[in-house]
Amino acid sequence: MNREVIAGIDLGGTKILAGLFDDRGQMLGKKRIPTDAAGGLQAVLDRMTGLIAELKGRHAPEGKLRGVAVAAPGPLNSETGLVYETPNLKWKEVPLREMLQEVLQVPVWVDNDGNLAALGEYTYGYPQEYRTLLYLTVSTGIGGGIIINGELYRGSDGGAGEFGHMTLVPDGPVCGCGNRGCLEALASGTAVARTARERVSRGRMAALREAVKGCIDKIDARLVAEMAAAGDGEAADLMDEAICYLGIGVANLVNLFNPQAIVIGGGMSGYRGLLQRVEEVVKERSYSSLSRKLKILPARLGSEAGLMGCLALASRKVKCEDSGRPFGIPADRWPGMVR
Ligand SMILES: [Zn+2]
Repeated sequence: MNREVIAGIDLGGTKILAGLFDDRGQMLGKKRIPTDAAGGLQAVLDRMTGLIAELKGRHAPEGKLRGVAVAAPGPLNSETGLVYETPNLKWKEVPLREMLQEVLQVPVWVDNDGNLAALGEYTYGYPQEYRTLLYLTVSTGIGGGIIINGELYRGSDGGAGEFGHMTLVPDGPVCGCGNRGCLEALASGTAVARTARERVSRGRMAALREAVKGCIDKIDARLVAEMAAAGDGEAADLMDEAICYLGIGVANLVNLFNPQAIVIGGGMSGYRGLLQRVEEVVKERSYSSLSRKLKILPARLGSEAGLMGCLALASRKVKCEDSGRPFGIPADRWPGMVR
């Protein structure tokens, strides 16, 4: 059977996750490999194209590859597929779309990973439920994407949705972006770990110091969250401070965008009670007429949000050859699908 397939690639600084999908949106197979960014640009491209060939050979050897969608880090131009810069991969001005198309000989689409995770949650996480939705991922960093009236909002130059870099404290901790007091520097996993290490080295958080036997390099956000959940008061206070900052950031977004839903994912979002606490802060700090109907929801796609976003992007570019239905959207959701 000559089934049609689409490949998606979520390109990260440390790992490449690729998936192969059929026209109903079923994942036929996936695989995660190290990015090996230190090997250089060509080596990373070879790993990406090799991974697609491997998945197709294994799961759809007779199939026809209709295109490849890539979720890439860093600001980029989604029209041309030019990646401006990616600190993780040390790329500058890389024509990713062109380079992949030359090897693969099929259409390639490239978009920002935060944007595509938002599109993934919008299309497959909460299908058709919320037309205006913001997605935030809270893990080592804080990023996200903006869906307005069913469409991605990318900004004038592809840089919209950098939620992690709104300034909340003028003279706050230095952020990876060079600014001070960004949301990311106050509420990410990296921020929680850094604050915990500072407190331990100043003689506070004795239980945490004991847990790592004095080796403060071993302190990470997961450990702080675990100790907080197990009843350690100082760890719980630290987590609550971070979550309050997150709530303030989200309240700002509510006043700016008046979304129907804010979907929160990433490693930190699994902390017990985080969504409820964010909701409380949002209710305190944003216009009540805007927060009253707002839904604050857990991400449903987990670490596959970017990959599902690749499929969602492809569904906006490719129609099934037999039916004209968007690729990757099940027949029972088409026609009549709200976008
Ligand atoms: Zn920043």
